[in-house]
Amino acid sequence: MNYRHAFHAGNHADVLKHVVLLAVCDALTAKPAPLFALDTHAGRGLYRLDADAARRTGEAADGIGRLLELPRQCAPLERYLRAVQACRMAHGAEAYPGSPWLLAHALREHDRVAACELQPEEAEALRTVFSRDPRVAVHQRDGYAALKALLPPRIGDTRFARGLVLIDPPYEAQLEEFDHALAALRQSLERWPQAVYALWYPIKRRRSLQPFLRRAATLPAKSSFVAELMVHPDDSPLRMNGSGLLLLNPPWRLDTALAAALPELVAGLGQAGACWRLDWLKAAT
Ligand code: SAM
Repeated sequence: MNYRHAFHAGNHADVLKHVVLLAVCDALTAKPAPLFALDTHAGRGLYRLDADAARRTGEAADGIGRLLELPRQCAPLERYLRAVQACRMAHGAEAYPGSPWLLAHALREHDRVAACELQPEEAEALRTVFSRDPRVAVHQRDGYAALKALLPPRIGDTRFARGLVLIDPPYEAQLEEFDHALAALRQSLERWPQAVYALWYPIKRRRSLQPFLRRAATLPAKSSFVAELMVHPDDSPLRMNGSGLLLLNPPWRLDTALAAALPELVAGLGQAGACWRLDWLKAAT
């Protein structure tokens, strides 16, 4: 396990993932029932973009850095930027929020978050971030095992009918991770069928994703789509040219919100040849 998210925090892939995550949270919190959110690969929760790791790659400058310089943007991007500003108000001008921080920020007093992180130092840092937030339980454990252990969610007497699961693995062993994630989604849908599931994935060459997308379309969700942002042309297998999120049981009108945000992300973060797509794998009936 060599992956450290501190090198990549705030890059184009984080921007896409975090915009989508907040849009899902906002759609779900429109109804009053309590929510449960499970972040299977949570990272350390909070990053500093002036830290050595982030400065060495400079990835955040081409992600959140570029977005912050653009004039007024569509509602989902404005929402994301407001969340980043809230994080900076609380933790300093160079702070950048990880997914569990954004979940805790977007969810309410009666909602609950479980954040899993396997790497001991990252898990310790995550614990520190949430030491005073009783809504967030930090687990140093395998996120895939947590899906089996924690779903369907029940805390004390509360059974959570609604909620979301974010699966954001490091893809160190690329092909195996796609297999693990799809198997985990299939099992989790049996345990908690009505939840919203979001799986992040990297894109080098899009055509090599076809087997994954075909299998994703067979998952027993009510509906599903993929939202992708390519910041480089799809012409090199050697680098991450973009990334995507597979959304299962997406909230109503999430596609409309993202269809507004994705072209703006291409315009703001993309190089020549950048593009976006939003493809339904299984349309809502
Ligand atoms: N979701 C985070 C965010 O958006 O801020 C970033 C997570 S990063 C891409 C992936 C994290 O998963 C790393 O911190 C890594 O240590 C952790 N990890 C790797 N394998 C894991 C596993 N099997 N279970 C839980 N965490 C794992």
